[in-house]
Amino acid sequence: MAKKKNTKYVYFFGGKKADGKAEMKNLLGGKGANLAEMVNIGLPVPAGFTITTEVCTYYYDNKKKYPKELEKQVEASLKKIEKEMGAKFGDKKNPLLLSVRSGARASMPGMMDTILNLGLNDDTVEALIKQTNNPRFAYDSYRRFVQMYGDVVLGLQPEDKHDLDPFEVILDAKKEANGIKNDTDLTADHLKELVEEFKIEIKKRTGHDFPTDPKKQLWGAVGAVFSSWMNERAIVYRKLNDIPAEWGTAVNVQSMVFGNMGEDSGTGVAFTRDPASGKNIFYGEYLFNAQGEDVVAGVRTPHEISELRKESPKLYKELDKIRLKLEKHYHDMMDVEFTIQQGKLWMLQARVGKRTGFAAIQIAVDMVREKLISKEEALLRIDPEQLNQLLRPIFDTEQKTKAIASGKLLAKGLNAGPGAATGKVAFSAHDAEIMASKGDKVILVRVETSPEDIKGMNASEGILTAKGGMTSHAALVARQMGKVCVAGCGSLEIDYKKGTMKVEGKPTIKEGEYISIDGSTGEVIAGEIQTKPSEVVQVLITKELAPTKSKVYKTYKDLMSWADKTRKLKVRTNADEPSQSTNAIAFGAEGIGLTRTEHMFFEGDRIIAVREMILANDAEGRKAALAKLLPHQRKDFEGIFEVMKGRPVTIRTLDPPLHEFLPHETKDIKVMAETMGISVKNVKDKIANLSEFNPMLGFRGCRLGTAFPEITEMQVRAILEAAVNIAKKGIKVKPEIMIPLVSHVNELKVQEAIVRRVAKEVFKEKGKKVNYLVGTMIELPRAALTADEIAEVAEFFSFGTNDLTQTSFGLSRDDAGKFLPMYVEKEILPRDPFESIDQNGVGQLVEIGTKKGRKVNPKLKVGICGEHGGEPESVEFCHRTELDYVSCSPYRVPIARLAAARAALRDKK
Ligand code: ADP
Ligand code: MG
Ligand code: MG
Repeated sequence: MAKKKNTKYVYFFGGKKADGKAEMKNLLGGKGANLAEMVNIGLPVPAGFTITTEVCTYYYDNKKKYPKELEKQVEASLKKIEKEMGAKFGDKKNPLLLSVRSGARASMPGMMDTILNLGLNDDTVEALIKQTNNPRFAYDSYRRFVQMYGDVVLGLQPEDKHDLDPFEVILDAKKEANGIKNDTDLTADHLKELVEEFKIEIKKRTGHDFPTDPKKQLWGAVGAVFSSWMNERAIVYRKLNDIPAEWGTAVNVQSMVFGNMGEDSGTGVAFTRDPASGKNIFYGEYLFNAQGEDVVAGVRTPHEISELRKESPKLYKELDKIRLKLEKHYHDMMDVEFTIQQGKLWMLQARVGKRTGFAAIQIAVDMVREKLISKEEALLRIDPEQLNQLLRPIFDTEQKTKAIASGKLLAKGLNAGPGAATGKVAFSAHDAEIMASKGDKVILVRVETSPEDIKGMNASEGILTAKGGMTSHAALVARQMGKVCVAGCGSLEIDYKKGTMKVEGKPTIKEGEYISIDGSTGEVIAGEIQTKPSEVVQVLITKELAPTKSKVYKTYKDLMSWADKTRKLKVRTNADEPSQSTNAIAFGAEGIGLTRTEHMFFEGDRIIAVREMILANDAEGRKAALAKLLPHQRKDFEGIFEVMKGRPVTIRTLDPPLHEFLPHETKDIKVMAETMGISVKNVKDKIANLSEFNPMLGFRGCRLGTAFPEITEMQVRAILEAAVNIAKKGIKVKPEIMIPLVSHVNELKVQEAIVRRVAKEVFKEKGKKVNYLVGTMIELPRAALTADEIAEVAEFFSFGTNDLTQTSFGLSRDDAGKFLPMYVEKEILPRDPFESIDQNGVGQLVEIGTKKGRKVNPKLKVGICGEHGGEPESVEFCHRTELDYVSCSPYRVPIARLAAARAALRDKK
């Protein structure tokens, strides 16, 4: 895109006014936009400027060069900062020091590195000493700067995961040589020496001279921020979070304030509410006499913000006022960073706070109750997948109590990510990935985590760290991923080399052994503990908890009732048994979208009758076997109709290829030979005869009912006899008989004729009629394209998007595992089409099918029953395509309800 000459690339903020505002996130990044916004609402923010994300894009489009106008604009803004802060960049008497901070649109915790104290060199450090009369502070700032700059810009980093940080090595040597234990005991002279030693090491190992010119330092840092947009960990994070590379990052250059100027200075991070539980309390951590990331890094253990109330009531009051002001302004829970310089409070960052799914729901519902946001807003704020956290298991209390009583409690850390997880210990992210790929449940145990670990964290059930607070990397990322997390478990001694973890006085745990962690209480327990349903599940499903006894349930119920009032799509469930159906109703299902009759075939010894039917020589033999199945099927359907109480129940006639039911083991083959009174060889021959090259495209679906009408006859008879029997008990029934895998309307006609004939027979025999529908699955492209013909016969359509995806892509889901993940990895496909419906391709077939079908039959009921029915984006697609309902597994019903409500709201906008 060609840029006009006078494009504004640099946005100033500071004093009382900023060039930017919160709405300009795309251009200024999240950090820059909110720094500007805080200035505009009158909060104290050190002056600075933001270089826009457009510059990042330009930089990558133009061989890492900047737009011509940039330098001038930076110079001009730098002047403004100097004026605002009363100091001069590079000045030998009164130097302005800067921080250079990255800031993408979406916050990417820890992805980009910040450089502090930029502008220091051998001259300016002298000025700083004179000004503050504090050589130790000045040299500490200088050595931090050289360290950060050396790492981020000049690239002096550990070479692999076993390698130690070269700066830390020098630092430790210095401490050891001087018999010093804590960083804080290093003197100004020690720090001065360190600066030199750091510079020498940088030169030695990278070949770079450390730049002394502040301007050069500044441009080096800006370039490093832009470059970090394309580093591996940033790329991995973007992939995991669906952030496009084109967005780019902004760069924020800001005047420094110092939290390490003595005991009247400090730094902290806070959330305006508890990000783990969602409780409306001020939540955060701070450290006095500390700078930058000391709080987050977990080097020193920070104090809870509630302690500040006692230590410095004035500062606490000021902060608390800011907390309320921010919530009132942003109408959301905010995450802030602040620094106190010699008693003066400065805000360094504000953003909408990351939270657990649990907290997200609690906060949204509470904010509606507090009239901060509307119900619609609350619905739009909650990612439907977050509901999983309300439905997620907790530990079986009895087992946990027992484990603790028997001395298995190892330690207690911070309850950073709620839920219960049990699994085998892995000590590196890489090992965690490998173990998980073998099907093990893994708990990743680390001293602390870093952005390199995110893949391994993603593969784990839970994360346990020894260092770091509630706002540490591990805690933040775990919450976002919805993982169970216990952080900052200080008593844990982890030995990576030996592959062990140990707590004083307790048995050592080795890699691969089981531990259990409770992310709601922070407990770490040796061994495996059974998990147990969440409170919502206890109220709705297991009924062990009274609804009035659970606050969590109350929140869930309110939210769901708002969702139900908003959505247009109905939500049904896929269920094959009465108990599943009952659960689904408890979760809010309004009907059954798919009952797979064949799932019942494996119960008890029914399978023998099924096999007999398949292996029979003729219709007579099949009928005899089917007669044995009929009472079973009828009973199953009665059970379902009974619990569904008049809600629609879609039952599909036999669908899978027959090989799925055939015996493979000699023992079973013998049983079949005996049952049927034929030889083992004879049975084997029949099995061989039925084998197919490509069963998914073979003898299955309505093709079975076409070749063997007696199968359809039996199933229809079972369904309708069950329906009549239940109706006779005074319970309403609404059967919908669904014919699978139709590609040509004539197939449906043949099946429909059977259904209608059998229905007449049953109603006559029973002396009672019930209403029923006959419809079809649309799961082959040809069916979608000829939906108008099919709708002449069908009373409803149900899109079977699993098969429709297979047949549209021409790939078999069972074999796709070999290449589909690679396709997603390489971004050949944006997502796995079996996970989220391929809207452009398969979705078009759904649209065409729906439109063509409704044109012929405006009353045609249309739904979807593939796995996609419970996936939020697919649900939204179904809403836009004006389907009547989606159908999904019982535990996903609440997710689909919320997704449908959000779709309806977005539609209105
Ligand atoms: P991140 O994106 O990782 O949060 P930040 O840009 O917020 O990185 O910087 C990390 C830390 O550096 C902040 O938490 C803050 O404490 C410190 N920091 C950044 N800019 C300044 C500044 N101008 N003055 C003092 N400290 C700063
Ligand atoms: Mg920050
Ligand atoms: Mg199918």
